[in-house]
Amino acid sequence: MERTLSIIKPDGVSRGLIGEVIKRFEQNQIRIVAMKMVQLTKKQAEGFYAVHKARPFFQSLTDFMCSGPVVVMVLEGENVIQKNRTIMGATNYKEAAEGTIRRDFATDIEKNIVHGSDAPETASFEIGYFFNAFELIS
Ligand code: GDP
Repeated sequence: MERTLSIIKPDGVSRGLIGEVIKRFEQNQIRIVAMKMVQLTKKQAEGFYAVHKARPFFQSLTDFMCSGPVVVMVLEGENVIQKNRTIMGATNYKEAAEGTIRRDFATDIEKNIVHGSDAPETASFEIGYFFNAFELIS
């Protein structure tokens, strides 16, 4: 059993896509074991995306991520890290497969509706960034 962190980014929240994203998780037998809505500060967004600090899009990405509320969730299930990445689709919505969240809703390589951890180590860091052990339903 694996866990992963999912974020519905500010574009997903402001465009009314919270239910749509959650529906896709539930339809794919993914369990939500923690969930909250938060508005990140610039510093929190920079800390979350610290691995991308040297990338040219770091400023723009972290400004975007604190531009409005986000919904943060911990997902649980077998192979859920990869499963969530498949449901999300490729980073660039133009390359994302048909029927994925990003292909269906993203408007931009940056404003791509959802975030999902990409490996067990990042999932562990990212879950701990937003939730403590008492906030996870077992
Ligand atoms: P992810 O794991 O699919 O979210 O992709 P990455 O970890 O590579 O990038 C993190 C986030 O940065 C992406 O989801 C996008 O929001 C943003 N991003 C990635 N590449 C670019 C880019 O070339 N330009 C801009 N502006 N944003 C990008």
